[in-house]
Amino acid sequence: MSTKDYLEKDYYAVLGVPKNATSEDIKKAYRKLARQYHPDANPGNKAAEDRFKGVSEAYDVLSDVKRRKEYDEARTLFGSGAGGFAGAGGHRGGGFNFDLGDLFSGGTGGTGDRIGDLFGGLFNRGGGARTTTTSRPRRGQDIESEVTLAFGEAVDGTTVSLRLTSSAACQACSGTGAKAGTTPRVCPTCEGTGAASRNLGNFAFSEPCRDCRGRGLLVDDPCPVCDGSGRGKSTRTIQARIPAGVGDGQRIRIKGKGAPGENGGPSGDLYVLVHVKPHSVFGRSGENLTVTVPVTFPEAALGAEIKVPTLKGMPVTLRIPEGTPNGRTFRVRGRGAARKDGTKGDLLVTVQVTVPQNLDDKARAALEEFRDATEGPDLREELIKQARSE
Ligand SMILES: [Zn+2]
Ligand SMILES: [Zn+2]
Repeated sequence: MSTKDYLEKDYYAVLGVPKNATSEDIKKAYRKLARQYHPDANPGNKAAEDRFKGVSEAYDVLSDVKRRKEYDEARTLFGSGAGGFAGAGGHRGGGFNFDLGDLFSGGTGGTGDRIGDLFGGLFNRGGGARTTTTSRPRRGQDIESEVTLAFGEAVDGTTVSLRLTSSAACQACSGTGAKAGTTPRVCPTCEGTGAASRNLGNFAFSEPCRDCRGRGLLVDDPCPVCDGSGRGKSTRTIQARIPAGVGDGQRIRIKGKGAPGENGGPSGDLYVLVHVKPHSVFGRSGENLTVTVPVTFPEAALGAEIKVPTLKGMPVTLRIPEGTPNGRTFRVRGRGAARKDGTKGDLLVTVQVTVPQNLDDKARAALEEFRDATEGPDLREELIKQARSE
C-alpha cells in the first residue's frame, strides 16, 4: 500500500461504514460486499473484479488495528479525501513537508522497493491508474550464471549458449496450485481474506487464517506437478555475447536477460561469471599475452632473429640483440588480447637460455676453446667478498 493510496482512497466509503465503525461492523460490511463482488460469482466481469479488489484492499487496512491507525493518521495529517492530493504536481519540490526518513525507516522491505512505492505513489501520476501493491510493476530478479571459456575464446570474444533456470509460476496449473481443470475455491473460514481476527477483550488481533494458511483460497485437488505450491521453474536457453579480452574470474552483466518483470516491469539482469581455461603455451597478463621461449647460449650471446609463436596466427620474427641476458622480456606490439577500444595489447616474450645436455666431441672442443679464450676473474669473487663484509 502506498502513501498515495492512503491519501487518495477513502476505505470507509469503499466499505460503506462510518469512520468510527467497530471492527465487527467493518467485518460485516466486508463480508457482504466480498460475496457480492467475488470474481467466482461474477465471471468475466471486470467492474466487479475491480470492486472486489478495492473492497479487499480497504478491508486489509481497516481490519488491521495498527494499519487502520496509520491510515487515519495519514489522512488527518496530510488532508483527507479524494482530491486532497489530486494536484500533487504543484507540491513538487517545495512546501512538501514529508519526513522521508520516517517513511523509509522501520520497514522490513528493501529500501529500493519503498522508494519506488513512495515515488510511484506520489509523483508518477499515470492518469488515474490504479497503484495497488499487487498490480505495481516489479523489476524481474537478477540471475547468476557461469561459463568456462577456452583461452582463445576469452581473448577473441565469443557467443555462448546459456541454460538459465529461474523460478516461475507452475506451468501445469498456471500458479494456482490446483490440478489442471479445477480451480481453487474461496476459503469459507476467512471468506477469501486470508486473515482471521481474534478478539481478546478490547483488542482484536489479525493473524493468517489457519484453514488456508493466509492464502484466502483452498485447493481440493492439488496440482500433481508442483504439489499444490503453484511454484515451478522455467528453463530457457539464451545466446550471450562474451566480449573479447574477458579475464578469468570476471563477471559480465548482460542487461535485461534476467528474470522477466511482473505487471509490465522491466526484466532483471544476467550476471555471467567467466572462467578461462589455461593455455599450454600462452599466459595472460591483463590485455597482454605472455610466452616464454628457449634460446641457445650463442643466440643470446651473439644476437639472433628468432621465430616466436602467436595465438592463432603465423609466428613472428623477433630480433634479440647481442648479449641478451637470460630472462629478458621483449614486447611484440599488437599481438595480445583485445582491449575495450578494439585495439590489441602486446605479446610479451621472455627468453630462457638453455644449456646443452649432450655435447659431441666437436662441440665440447669448441666450448673448451671458448672457455680458455674468455678466462677472466672469478665471477663469484665479488659476491663472496660482499657476503663476508656484512
Ligand atoms: Zn482462510
Ligand atoms: Zn502446479
